[in-house]
Amino acid sequence: MSGNFIDNVNPATGEVYGQIPDSNSKDVEAAVHVAQKAFPVWSTTPAEERFKILNRIAELIDENLDELALAETNDNGKPLWLSKKVDIPRASANFRFFATGIMHFATESHHMEDKAVNYTLRQPIGIVACISPWNLPLYLFTWKIAPALAAGNCVIAKPSEVTPVTAFLLSIICREAGLPPGVLNIIHGTGNTTGEAIVKHPAIKAISFTGSTRAGERIASIAAPKFKKLSLELGGKNPNIIFADCDWEKMLKISVQSSFSNQGEICLCGSRILIEETVYERFKAAFVERTKQLKVGDPLNERSKQGAIVSKVHFDKIIRCIDTARQEGGKILCGGHAIKGEGRCENGYFIEPTVIEGLGPDCQTNQEEIFGPVVTLQSFKTEEEALQLANATQYGLAASIWTQDISKANRMAARVESGIIWVNCWLLRDLRTPFGGMKNSGVGREGGWEALRFFTEAKNICIEF
Ligand code: NAD
Repeated sequence: MSGNFIDNVNPATGEVYGQIPDSNSKDVEAAVHVAQKAFPVWSTTPAEERFKILNRIAELIDENLDELALAETNDNGKPLWLSKKVDIPRASANFRFFATGIMHFATESHHMEDKAVNYTLRQPIGIVACISPWNLPLYLFTWKIAPALAAGNCVIAKPSEVTPVTAFLLSIICREAGLPPGVLNIIHGTGNTTGEAIVKHPAIKAISFTGSTRAGERIASIAAPKFKKLSLELGGKNPNIIFADCDWEKMLKISVQSSFSNQGEICLCGSRILIEETVYERFKAAFVERTKQLKVGDPLNERSKQGAIVSKVHFDKIIRCIDTARQEGGKILCGGHAIKGEGRCENGYFIEPTVIEGLGPDCQTNQEEIFGPVVTLQSFKTEEEALQLANATQYGLAASIWTQDISKANRMAARVESGIIWVNCWLLRDLRTPFGGMKNSGVGREGGWEALRFFTEAKNICIEF
């Protein structure tokens, strides 16, 4: 309806290969209208029926893995092998997980001895919104949509305007799986236009958002005075804490992954590596050597460990951040530059994996989220100092701790200000666990029962005997 369109660019080639609508408030109104019509039937559809449809969506995602993975890679720039191994399988896992979850979801009852009994009804909220970012497009989009639908809501969902294609393909899959019209409404457009129209709409009662802290702040400022339910999954600046007594080989291998997977564009990547002083030089030499071996290039090439940065805007931002690190006195140990792609990728947006040392905790480089293939190294002498460095940012999303001393791991885990702590591992996910950040990394938790509770309204019913 808006008549405005946005170019869709393949970041590995720099080519515009499609256009998507920049939907306006009238489009949102139309989506809400059909969602309202669908809600009475969907919200009273038996859980077993919802399970069947959502499980069928999961099966169809698996059946279309190759097409979805290629679309994800063309939109985002991530290696095709990664889309096939992680992004698309996780999207079907999300639907399968919440399809079965709703079959087991139960509510509480509180007994008041001989006086009364209370039971809690958890009812669908109505029309809810799911807004997601570009770094794990279908993976995070479905992580929100699946529990919202499983709980019986009708959904208005907006993927990132930077990576819209797999969301579009999902809409075709949902139809084929038998999801009734109006239950899921996928609407494309920019954050300022479409996103804000969604957040402002009075009939949308809950918003599940994943994205930057800046956008989260803006969304909260609009939604809070209207008393909308909010779940915010925001930015991070995660510490990767390495003690001398860790399993060295495992730590080294996983630290390279936690630094540079998906071009460092995962909110959970460890971007501040904190190393015990006694092994600092050893770590630096080994880590830099491994980082230099990472092949950056065409995401369609199986040997590329790192693909393209998602967009020109984000590419420019990362290059600016590296310049800032230099100006702040940081020493670039490896990387630090853009890379010119080969063949079809000569106009793509590629950046070398970059390791920086010599910067203290308070500088911009160690305070602001870069969200790219850039990490810093800092050393610490004691557990207390490691803790101070780990907690020295506005963020509190995830942390990794590497040590063979389980008591030290537990002590640290209790005091590091992060919603997610991995001990001797990274990105090991059990979908039942609470997922989310503290401080400026967000409000609320996703995953398991937390998500189904978020997408339902609790009502207590007290019956006196
Ligand atoms: P972004 O905030 O720019 O955009 C995220 C989504 O919100 C997009 O769909 C965008 O169109 C929309 N949006 C932007 N402004 C809006 C507004 N004012 N109103 C409504 N919608 C709006 O983030 P991005 O650049 O797409 O993603 C990168 C960010 O996401 C990073 O900060 C990263 O840490 C964060 N992230 C967090 C998690 C997590 O689980 N905590 C996971 C992935 C990414």
